Formats: sequence, structure tokens, C-alpha cells
Amino acid sequence: MEEKWLVGVDLGGTTIKMAFISMDGDILYSWEIDTDKRESGKYIPASIARGIDRKLQELDQTKSRLIGVGIGAPGPVNEKDGSIEVAINLGWKNFPLKEILQRETSLPVVVDNDANIAAIGEMWKGAGQGAKNMICVTLGTGVGGGLIANGEIVHGVNGAGGEIGHIVSVPKGGAPCNCGKKGCLETVASATGIVRLTVEELSTKEDQSSLREIYENSQTITAKQVLDAVSEGDALAKKVVEEVTYHLGLALANLANGLNPEKIVIGGGVSKAGDTLLEPLKEQFASFAFPRVAQGVELVTATLGNHAGVIGGAWLVKEKL
Ligand code: ZN
Repeated sequence: MEEKWLVGVDLGGTTIKMAFISMDGDILYSWEIDTDKRESGKYIPASIARGIDRKLQELDQTKSRLIGVGIGAPGPVNEKDGSIEVAINLGWKNFPLKEILQRETSLPVVVDNDANIAAIGEMWKGAGQGAKNMICVTLGTGVGGGLIANGEIVHGVNGAGGEIGHIVSVPKGGAPCNCGKKGCLETVASATGIVRLTVEELSTKEDQSSLREIYENSQTITAKQVLDAVSEGDALAKKVVEEVTYHLGLALANLANGLNPEKIVIGGGVSKAGDTLLEPLKEQFASFAFPRVAQGVELVTATLGNHAGVIGGAWLVKEKL
């Protein structure tokens, strides 16, 4: 009998990552298509179906190879019917993703949130190494998260479980967040937050810093430039990272006290800074976590990069269909 394949799809605002994945979670073929956002994103499911058909044709395979599609979408997912309540950057509102995608592909479909499937991917084949209790936090333009308890993603009562980025870190006088609140972790620990804190430091203080020249010349600065400056011993950059890891360490410690996880996996673009971020974060975390919780957990950086989502999607097909 021919080996069956799983289809993982990671739906983003600009590209859709897709892959055929083996039952063991190995990526066999992966590719990307552009996200077709015309007319409030109504063509997206059809373009995914076409992407699958084209790839099968290219590989001289038929659909009988495929078990089903696991897709991660931005925004909270309605667990009952696999619809997306709202995905602002796709133009979706009460969009019945599961229903339409099943019709377009003639395959069974399972839908979850994009941050959740990335967490599942890291649990299955990445830094989680099979840990059944795990916190996954993605530090990118925003801060995403996924909580895994007893091997299952925590969805909560209406799909908003694991929204780590919106834990309030600065209760008074915090910066406005996309969610409508102020002072969320996302306003501090994302790439955007790091840039904001750095620009604040540069504008209010006269400290010597290699970042001052970069900023004065181009009027912009990137999180990567700040994190690179830390490894060059820049005091101002170091101060920014101290503030970021203080808030992140506090939020993760409080979450960990509730879950008692085995692993905390740090992913996203900001995590590429490696020990520059991880070492001070570990210190802050240890100072805030309940001692027995701190003993049981390991903080690690994610290992799957951009592939975490498609692998997590494949896991959903394997486990849920
Ligand atoms: Zn928020």
C-alpha cells in the first residue's frame, strides 16, 4: 500500500505556506503561494485547493494519497464549525473556512489558529520534543502564543486561549495595543515593541550608543540592529533588552505557575537573537516563577522556523481526522 500524506497549510497575510508531510511528520514537499486578498479574501480557499492539485500533478500523484488538510488561520477559530470570526488582514468576517475548503478540495479539513498550529509543530517535531505540557510564544511583529496542556492545545470557551501577547505587562501608562487595550506584552516584547522602547530611550537620554547614529542617519531602527548592538556591548541596547526580558519573564513565569510546563519554547524573528535574549530571560523567569515550577521547566528557542505551522497542521490531520 502506498504511504499516505498529510497536508499542512499555514495561512498568512501575504503568503500561504503549504506542505505534503509524511505520517512521521517529515516534510516531503513544501511550497508557498501568494495570499489572494481580493474581494475580502473570498478566493483564498479556491487558491489553496488549486495549489494542492497543481502540486499533485507536478509529482504525478493523485488525491488518494492525501488524508486531509490541517490549516492554521489568523484570528480566533470557532471550534464547532471551523469558521473564522474575524481576520482583519484577510478581510474575513464570520468566514466558514472549513466548509468552503472541504468543498473546494474534496478532502476533510481541520482548522485551528496559526499560533496554535505553530505550537503543535514545535511540540511534535521541534524544540518541544514531545513535551505534553508546554508554552509556546512567538516574538515577531506581534506576540503570539499557544498553550499545550496534556498534549492538547488549550482553546478555551470561545477560541481565545493562549493569547499570551495580550497579557497586560504595563498596567499604568502602557502603549496602545492593536487589541484596543494598553500595555499588553505585545507592546513591549515584539519586534515593534523593541523598536519603540529603543526610540524612547534615544529621544529622552543622551547616553552614548551606536544606535544613535543609525537612528539619526535613517530615522528608523530595527529590532535586529538593537539585538546585534547588545552583543557588541552597547549599554542602551542592553537596557532595552533588560526591560523586554523583565516583562516577558514575568508574564511567562505567571503563566507557568498556572500550567507547570516542561518546556517554554521561544520562537519568531526576535528569538533569532539566541542567548542575547534567552540568557537574561532565563534569569528573569527564575526570579519570578514558583521554585518547583522553575525546576521543572526548560526555556529553549524554537527549531522549526517557518515550517512549524505546516507541521502542526499535519499533526492535526493525523490526530483529529
Ligand atoms: Zn493587546
